[in-house]
Amino acid sequence: MSSELEALRAAVREFCDREVRPTAQQRDRDESYPAELLPGLVELGVLGAVIPERFGGAGLDDAGYRVVIEELGAADSSLRSLVSVNLGLVGKSVLRWGTDDQQERWLPGLARGELGAFGLTEPEAGSNPSQMTARAVRDGDGWVLNGAKIFITNGTRGAVTMVFARAIVDGEDRGITCFLTPQDAPGYTGRQIHGKLGLRSGDTAEIALDDVRVGDDAVLGEVGGGMKVALSALDDGRFSLAAGAVGLAREALEVSVRYAGEREQWGGPIAGKQLVQELLAAMHVDVQAAGGLVDAVVKKKLAGERCTLEVSTAKLFATEASVRCADRAVQVHGGYGYIDEYPVQRMLRDARVTTLYEGTSQVQHLIIGRLLTGVSAF
Ligand SMILES: Cc1cc2nc3c(=O)[nH]c(=O)nc-3n(C[C@H](O)[C@H](O)[C@H](O)COP(=O)(O)OP(=O)(O)OC[C@H]3O[C@@H](n4cnc5c(N)ncnc54)[C@H](O)[C@@H]3O)c2cc1C
Repeated sequence: MSSELEALRAAVREFCDREVRPTAQQRDRDESYPAELLPGLVELGVLGAVIPERFGGAGLDDAGYRVVIEELGAADSSLRSLVSVNLGLVGKSVLRWGTDDQQERWLPGLARGELGAFGLTEPEAGSNPSQMTARAVRDGDGWVLNGAKIFITNGTRGAVTMVFARAIVDGEDRGITCFLTPQDAPGYTGRQIHGKLGLRSGDTAEIALDDVRVGDDAVLGEVGGGMKVALSALDDGRFSLAAGAVGLAREALEVSVRYAGEREQWGGPIAGKQLVQELLAAMHVDVQAAGGLVDAVVKKKLAGERCTLEVSTAKLFATEASVRCADRAVQVHGGYGYIDEYPVQRMLRDARVTTLYEGTSQVQHLIIGRLLTGVSAF
C-alpha cells in the first residue's frame, strides 16, 4: 500500500478511535443518530471522499475510498452505512449521470454532510425492483410523484433522495426513472423505522410521497433510464459494502485475538487452546480472502474496466464472511460476547444486514450465475 493510503488509513483510524468507537455502544443501545460526528467527518474529508475537489470533496479514487470505508466499517457499521449511501450510491450516481447543474446543486452539499439517500425499495418491490408502483405523472413542465418507499438509509436526515418511480406521460408508462427529490419538498414524509436488529444508530426510513412536485431538472439520467442508474449505483454501493464488511470482519478478528490473549481459563490464556486458535485462524482466512476480492475490484475500477462480476463476488463473499467472523468472535468471547460490554454482539447484529441489502446473497448468486452462463435464473 502506498504511503498516501497508509496516511489516509491512519487518519481515519485515529478519528474512529477518538470519536466513533467510544460512543458506538451507547448509540446502538439508544438507537441515537450520530449527528455530533458529522462535522468531524466533514472536516476529515470522509463525507466528500469521492467528490471532486472543485465541489468541496477530497477527490479520492477508489483505492482511497476503499480504505476510508473499511476503517469506518471496522469502527461502526451504522456510520459506514450512512457514508456508503451518501457516496457509493448517491454521490457517484450524480457524478456519473448528473448534468453540470445537478452536480453543482447537490455535490457540495453531500460533501458538507447534507446527506443523500437512495429510494429504490418499496414494500412490495424488494429483490425485484421492476415491480415498483411509485409513479411520476407528467404535469405541465414537471412531474408529480406518488408512492411509498421502505428501508431507506438517510431517508429522513438527508437533503436529497434519489426516488425511483415509473414515469407516466399522457397515461403511458415510459419506464422507471430516477428523480433527485429534495427531502424538504412538500408531500415528502419520512418516518424512522425503529427496532432494527442492527445498524441501530442509523437513519432507516419509510417514505411517503404525496403529490411531490419536481421539475425536469430533477431527472437523473434519462426518462425511462432509471434501472440503468440504479444498477450502476448498486455496482458502486456493493463495492463499498464489501469494503465495509472486510473492515468489520478484521475488527472482529482483532478484538478476538486480544481477548483470547487476556482471558484465562485452565491456568492460562484461552489463546493457547487449539480449538480457540481454530476459530481465530478461520476468521483470518475469511478476512484475507475477502480483502483479496475487494482488491480485485479496486484494480479493475482503477483501470476503468467494468467489474459487475468482481463486485458481486466480493459483495457476496465479504458480507457472508463478516457474519461468520462476527459470530466466531462472539464464540471466542464466550458469555461476555453475548452482552454489550464488548462490541462483538453489536458487530454480529450489524453484519447480519449486509447479506440482505443492496441485493441479498441469493440475488448475488443469481447475478454471478447469469454472468457466467449468459442465462438469467431470476
Ligand atoms: C437496514 C436496511 C437498510 C436498507 N437501505 C436501503 C436503501 O437505502 N435504499 C433502498 O432502496 N433499499 C434499502 N434497503 C432494502 C434492501 O435493499 C431490501 O430489503 C433487499 O433488497 C431485499 O428486499 P426485500 O426485503 O423486499 O426481500 P425480498 O425481495 O422479499 O426477499 C425475501 C427472500 O427471498 C429471496 N429471493 C427473492 N427473489 C429471489 C429469487 N429470484 N431467487 C431466490 N431467492 C429470492 C431473497 O434472497 C430473500 O431471502 C435496506 C434494508 C435494510 C434492512
